Amino acid sequence: MIYLNYQNDKKLQHWYAGQIRAFWAKPSKKPGLLRPNLQGLWDSLFAITPKNLDDILLRERPALEKTYAWIKEYGKLCDFVAYYPLLEEQAKKSRFYWEYPKLRQNYLGQHMGFYLETLIDGLSSSPDELIRSWANFSQLKKAAAQCLLDANLLIREFFDYSMMSQETRHELFRKMDVPVCPYCNRQYIHTVSLAGKKPYLGDLDHFYPQSYYPLFSLSLWNLIPVCKPCNQLFKRQYNRKLLSPQEAGFDDDCILEITAHEAAALLGYKDSFTLHWKISPFAPAEKADKIRQNLQLFHLDDVYQYHKPHIQRILQKRYLHSGSYSKKLSRMLDKIPLSEEEKNRLVYGTSLDKNQFHKELLGKMTYDIVMQ
Ligand SMILES: [Zn+2]
Repeated sequence: MIYLNYQNDKKLQHWYAGQIRAFWAKPSKKPGLLRPNLQGLWDSLFAITPKNLDDILLRERPALEKTYAWIKEYGKLCDFVAYYPLLEEQAKKSRFYWEYPKLRQNYLGQHMGFYLETLIDGLSSSPDELIRSWANFSQLKKAAAQCLLDANLLIREFFDYSMMSQETRHELFRKMDVPVCPYCNRQYIHTVSLAGKKPYLGDLDHFYPQSYYPLFSLSLWNLIPVCKPCNQLFKRQYNRKLLSPQEAGFDDDCILEITAHEAAALLGYKDSFTLHWKISPFAPAEKADKIRQNLQLFHLDDVYQYHKPHIQRILQKRYLHSGSYSKKLSRMLDKIPLSEEEKNRLVYGTSLDKNQFHKELLGKMTYDIVMQ
């Protein structure tokens, strides 16, 4: 996972908000029948000002939820429905069935808010009764899923990805200038010129899937340029608590670790080594949990096995570069004014600069191996 930050790119934000504002309009008529607990949502959507619109498009979710209570409440409902499979997964891992009520209680507590409260009132069961069994709890899940469906029908009148033209999408991708997939760092995704158009080789992924969170379907911070395998094969609509490239990269909290079974492997002369992505014991707990989900969802341990021959060559270069070869090379290059970054490119094929990972194929992998 490679860090991307559009929050610093004011020029891109300004251009993007202008593009959306040009076609964005409120619907002309109110829906006929509205369930009572969605009246407030409709009113909030209808009261959106140009400033609010810019916020939704450009400010990341935590900041939005701090400013807008209605978005915070909507987010809790979305999360309750979207992360429900994770609760079931957690329950499967738990060995004792008497732990289930506690799991359900924690899950309810994490997402309790306006929507769940009104839904529980409608079910005429107390939270204690609901958490008692899966059958009871799934009644609430069903009611929440239906409520979210209805809420999202309203939201799609205001925010729908299909409102964005293909030209704007292509131009956005080009302006984002991320030539390599940030999820895997192993596929090119740049734009190409084709019959006067500029399509891109990757996808624009909705970090929070449109199917659950259409309110964020046009938000710049929710659009991640990624490769097709990561988006279509691995991520799809499945919603896990992942690390977003706009939040952080793996950095030093997760590195590709090489374990050599003999000295010759460490020097790059044999391929008797294994590799895997290792989470640092010093990584903050919440980030470590998210990284674990990224590793699992994008099959990063598996897909990086393919790069073993490449890694072997990097190990060899690292060994050669650390000894007399390096001195000879330095003498040879003495008269040519090369920066450290340029020398690294010459030797390893990448800059070994953390700020360039999003532009360099396998930049993070190469960095981790050379620095290990
Ligand atoms: Zn990828």
